[in-house]
Amino acid sequence: MKQVIFLGAPGSGKGTQAKLLVADCGFNHLSTGDLLRAEVAKESELGLKVKNIMENGELVGDDIVLELLKINCDLTGSQYLFDGFPRNLAQAKALDELVLGGTESVAVYLDLDLDVLLERLVNRRTCGDCGAIYNLVHSAPKVAGTCDKCGGSNLLHRDDDKALAVSKRLAVFKNTITPVLEYYEQKGNLRRIDASQNMDQVLVQMKETLGC
Ligand SMILES: [Zn+2]
Repeated sequence: MKQVIFLGAPGSGKGTQAKLLVADCGFNHLSTGDLLRAEVAKESELGLKVKNIMENGELVGDDIVLELLKINCDLTGSQYLFDGFPRNLAQAKALDELVLGGTESVAVYLDLDLDVLLERLVNRRTCGDCGAIYNLVHSAPKVAGTCDKCGGSNLLHRDDDKALAVSKRLAVFKNTITPVLEYYEQKGNLRRIDASQNMDQVLVQMKETLGC
């Protein structure tokens, strides 16, 4: 039973694939964003600390995220999908040392060219009413400007998805993920998945790779 470290750029389809894998293969999804929000909601000592940091507009430090991961996973009995962590080499090493220990793990990377990611992200529109996501090229709403799911006409081009912001975000991603991929490659536990295929094909390849 291997623990899965799930890696992929914004726009690579990582969020969708994580949901499908959890539904089909029974992984426990460890999304660091969700863990942080849940801890804040619990109003635990750690949660209050996190709340304070977020309210000050600061980033939650690695020590806190690692602590959260540790208290939320029991590696002896379950298989986890680590999503959102690590984002850089220091975090990858800390995850191995402090959380995974000697447990067998595999890092799965949804591999996609940066220019394809750029094109996907700048064409993304988000429904301001129900959160549905569209791509004007690949999955446009049936009626232009109207949400298929809720019928709302509030399709937004988020600032995060505008060309300059996307280019910057992807450049940062590439610079930080490259050493992470090299690290797992050297350990012999990196698996690359061709994320330019459609959603179903990617899922099939993921399942083959993970044996589930
Ligand atoms: Zn909608």
